Amino acid sequence: MGSIVTPPPPLAVEDVFSEFAGQSKTTVRLHPRRAYPGVRESSLGGLLLWPAEEAWPECAAGDDHDEPIVLVAVLQIFARDVPELPFPNGTDVFQLLWCPALHDEDCRPRPVVRWRAEASIGELLDNPEPPDDEDVEDNHVPNICGLSPERVRELPYPWELDADLRDRVEAWAKERGWSYFAHLSAASGTKVGGWPQWIQDPEYPVCHCGTTMTHLITVASGEWDGESWRRWSPEGTVDGGEAAGLCLGDGGSNYFFTCPRCPNDPPVMVFQCS
Ligand SMILES: [Zn+2]
Ligand SMILES: [Zn+2]
Repeated sequence: MGSIVTPPPPLAVEDVFSEFAGQSKTTVRLHPRRAYPGVRESSLGGLLLWPAEEAWPECAAGDDHDEPIVLVAVLQIFARDVPELPFPNGTDVFQLLWCPALHDEDCRPRPVVRWRAEASIGELLDNPEPPDDEDVEDNHVPNICGLSPERVRELPYPWELDADLRDRVEAWAKERGWSYFAHLSAASGTKVGGWPQWIQDPEYPVCHCGTTMTHLITVASGEWDGESWRRWSPEGTVDGGEAAGLCLGDGGSNYFFTCPRCPNDPPVMVFQCS
């Protein structure tokens, strides 16, 4: 795919507020857009490189279902495209699936993660058809998209700041026609690493080893909203912001975290919506 480029920040927060020194991080925006990526390409909602000898995951816990629900592919990311992902030793493919059914009152999809070594996968499994729309939340079944990873520097989302700094930087931005929340802090949309764009208060999980977990991936309902598009829609277009076709709860996001000390533990998911 052609490159997709985020506009530069409209204001230099770090030049004016010394509190932001050292706070900038790099995130990899994945920019999902409708396409037909192959099984050996990174994708959202596309085909997964799945070994023939391994059963495709299913979920038996959906509401009102006698038959198990086939999990749907959400992301496949190769190390050659996003080496920033913390691939456990010997692996170079990351795969995320989730169950697209609702579980009782719980509106979050149930995730499954695989880390694989591409070279060790022999015969491939034909990926199953996604479940019928009437059986699941169709807003939890992503459209097939290609990815165009782009590295962007970003600052902590406002809920990570103390209230005094948050008020000062937002007032300063507003005087200049912008918002720290919507335009100058953490990138919106589906991305790897960097600062989570929290919808509610920050919720960093703590690992059983006592370490605060680090942000791995956000899968967002959309790439920007009615305000944040001014900064986070790519240069030259506002198309593609809803290409993934997801709506998680009420415009929510699924945030995945890993423990830097326990790289073989499965990632932990946090769901937030407005
Ligand atoms: Zn389920
Ligand atoms: Zn740990």
